[in-house]
Amino acid sequence: PSAADLITSLTATVPDFPKPGILFRDLTPVFANGEALRVVTDALVEPFRGEVDAVAGVEARGFVLAAAAAYALGVGMLIIRKPGKLPRPHLSQSYDLEYGSATLELQPDDLPPASRVLVLDDLLATGGTLSAAIDLVQRANWTVAGVSVVLELEGLGGRAVLAGHTVRSLVTL
Ligand code: 5GP
Repeated sequence: PSAADLITSLTATVPDFPKPGILFRDLTPVFANGEALRVVTDALVEPFRGEVDAVAGVEARGFVLAAAAAYALGVGMLIIRKPGKLPRPHLSQSYDLEYGSATLELQPDDLPPASRVLVLDDLLATGGTLSAAIDLVQRANWTVAGVSVVLELEGLGGRAVLAGHTVRSLVTL
């Protein structure tokens, strides 16, 4: 089966999580299936092969994909973390949520300047998270090779927020 078929058949849809009215797409059954994890990882990185020096994953589900993707590409992996986790000098980027705000952090001395970084996460919704991740990569003086996600929720404007970057999504809902 194709990556899209595996994602569609294995993704669980959970009503009212984490809040009433939210339809949560749970990708853990995709991660738990050996064939799906391999096929999805290969599909995420395929257009970027040979054009990437490292893969960055957004905490926490992005870590799963980025580690597999980095191994598949034969490059290293960066972690973009929630606040207060990184021990060495780091950049912080805050972004707006529907209610309140969130922050992501990155250690810029993990990789030399001008490195080409592919940014991975499980899902693109409004684009706020990946936009902050992109800002961090650029503030570290690296280049964004592209963005790749398993699921894109259409109609929330995420793709427009990431305009100017190559955005690959394997399934659009
Ligand atoms: P955005 O910032 O694009 O609005 O939301 C995307 C971020 O929130 C991603 O880091 C993603 O993991 C998380 N997220 C939002 N909605 C969902 C969902 O329905 N399922 C999953 N797995 N993650 C979600």
